[in-house]
Parts: sequence; structure tokens; C-alpha cells
Amino acid sequence: MSSMPVLFIGHGSPLTAFEDNQFTRSWAAMVNGIQPTAVLCVSAHWCTNGTGVTAMTSPRTIHDFHGFPDDLYQFHYSAPGSPELAHRVKQLLPSLDVVLDQHWGFDHGCWAVMKHVFPQADVPVVQLSIDMQRDAQWHYDLGKQLSVLRNEGTLIIGSGNIVHNLRQLDFSDSGQIFPWAQRFNDHVRQSIESHNHHAIIQYQQGDDELRRAAMLSVPTPDHYYPLLYVLGASTPNDPIDISLDEIVLGSIAMMSVKLG
Ligand code: ZN
Repeated sequence: MSSMPVLFIGHGSPLTAFEDNQFTRSWAAMVNGIQPTAVLCVSAHWCTNGTGVTAMTSPRTIHDFHGFPDDLYQFHYSAPGSPELAHRVKQLLPSLDVVLDQHWGFDHGCWAVMKHVFPQADVPVVQLSIDMQRDAQWHYDLGKQLSVLRNEGTLIIGSGNIVHNLRQLDFSDSGQIFPWAQRFNDHVRQSIESHNHHAIIQYQQGDDELRRAAMLSVPTPDHYYPLLYVLGASTPNDPIDISLDEIVLGSIAMMSVKLG
């Protein structure tokens, strides 16, 4: 079995689940010709104390947002879970007391993406939670420990946004991008392309302007950390494909990355 790529997807608004646009089409294109046996999804929307994996056979669809159109609340992503993969993840992380979760399911960071990537819902999906007590290096290292799954048919997907500042959203049609958002986005992109993972892990360091850009772009790390899992699980030999790199609403980076 050949090694699976790893994907980071900038998921944006829950509305994207029901859109057909350049972003959703690029997500679908990322899995062209790939037939994973299962998906391990690290979603920005499952933040916990400790690490959990969904271990049920039929995960529910969680509608973890407010004030959106009815369609979104009616939608159910029917992919099965994979208790086998959940157990395998636990086995790969013996130093952690990984919880085999029976309560979570698919949050919108997962299903809004999976709906486009595997619309038939025929690939089992397991979610891995993000332990918010841990720092960036720890999440990167965890991704590294899970990289062996790539050789076992598992497609690892991180779902978040590299720049994600909901307080600074610009709903006018100005198309303006905040300079700090562009600066941080470009810094991360260049660091990915030059394999400078250190800079991505130490994202709060740099000159004054970059530190300010990082603070505004990553006000909380939940949407940033999924990228670290994906980079941690990558190897220096993986080809890097950044197909779309746009910032929407002034402060949401939709950049998606395929490695491998
Ligand atoms: Zn989100």
C-alpha cells in the first residue's frame, strides 16, 4: 500500500458545507485518485482536556453553530466510524491516556469538509481531539507519532484556518485584507514551502510586526493547531501543493495544503 498524503484544509464558515465554489472544488481535487481505508480528522472544533478519539461505529452529526440556515441543521453526514482506527491511534500513543470517546461524533469542522471530499460518505472517519492544555510543539510531535498511519491506508486531515479572527471579520464587499492577516499568512506559507516547521511551531516569535500579526491572526490556537498535526505527519520528501491561498472576509485564511 502506498503512503497516503496528509491534508490541511482551511474550512471557513459552516456555510461552505452547502456551497460549490473554488474552495470546495479544490478540496475535492485533493483526494482525486486516493482511496484511503479511513480518515483521521483533527478538527478545530473538538477541543478537550486530554486527548480523545471517536470510537463509535456510527458517529452522530453535530450542529455546533448558531443562527445558520435550516439546511445546515438538517444535514447528517452518514459515514461510519472506525473503532479499529480509534484503537490503533490509542496504541500509537502509549504515553497518553487516549479516551475512546462514545459521545462526540462529526463536528462541522469535520463534516463540512468531508461532505465535499467524500460526498458518498463511504470512507470511515475518526476524529482526534485537540488537547488545549498542550503547546504547539506537543501537537506537532503528536502528528509525527501518528505519521505511520499514512502507510496503513489512513488519510490524515487537519481542518482549521491559519488566520482565524472572527472579531475582525469584514462583511463589506471591499475585498480588503487586513495587512497583519496577509503578513502572517505569507509567513506561514513561506515556512511550509521552505520546510521551516520550527517557524510554524514558534509562531509567536519574530520581529514586533510579525508577533503582532500572529497575535491577531491566531487569537486562540484552536484553528491553527490542526496544521501542526499535518506538518508533523509529513516528511521532507513529500511534495507540497498549495492550490488555493486566499483570505476571505479580511481575516479568514482559506489556504489548504496537500503534502505527499
Ligand atoms: Zn471553524
